[in-house]
Amino acid sequence: MKIGFSVIVTYILAVSVFSLSLILASAVSAQETSLIGSDGKPVVIGAKKKPRKSGLCLDYGKTRLGNGRPYRVVEPTRTITSHEGIDFCKRAGSPVISPADGRIRYIEWDNKTYGGVVGITTEFSVKPREGMSKSRVFVEMVHIVPLKNLKRGQLVRAGQIVGHVQEANRPSIGKTPHVHFAVRRCDDWPTCHLDPNFFWRDGARKVSCFDKNKAIPKGRMVAPIPC
Ligand SMILES: [Zn+2]
Repeated sequence: MKIGFSVIVTYILAVSVFSLSLILASAVSAQETSLIGSDGKPVVIGAKKKPRKSGLCLDYGKTRLGNGRPYRVVEPTRTITSHEGIDFCKRAGSPVISPADGRIRYIEWDNKTYGGVVGITTEFSVKPREGMSKSRVFVEMVHIVPLKNLKRGQLVRAGQIVGHVQEANRPSIGKTPHVHFAVRRCDDWPTCHLDPNFFWRDGARKVSCFDKNKAIPKGRMVAPIPC
């Protein structure tokens, strides 16, 4: 599918409008906030700040890469014009953990473009807005080396190691090893991506690090790397 320039500009504009509408909104929480805008695209809120220890290096919805160039990755079937997840930059070999209790949904061992992926179906659903049905939330961690003994369908607990950060040895990883963390409610693009910042354990926009002594309320999660 070839996407024209005007479509890209429209999409970038739409993302900006969503950001603005969220700045105007108050009392954001995973349960109460409409996650999807009136046109069916995910609402972007962004992290409150970049917690340095978490390694967050590219937030959701960014339309520019760290080097200032527009975020536009062309793949065989689509053109990405905005960042659809949150990147956590960590050294290659750093552990990657499950952000919530769930079940292994899929494992991709080492795709030649983007490397390894682990997808996990969480135990909770979101109802994006009135009139839409609830859908189960799943997460995926991309550019990682999955644990060798990981199996599809396996139950995992929040904080459990599921893989390690991959070397920057595949084209879409770029120069810096990182985990691309996405939260989704279905497989289609782009309406299925949700801003992970809605779901943090400590509250919307507060990137939360796993702590075995802190319970994770239902519908919430932690960063996919120990921090
Ligand atoms: Zn990314």
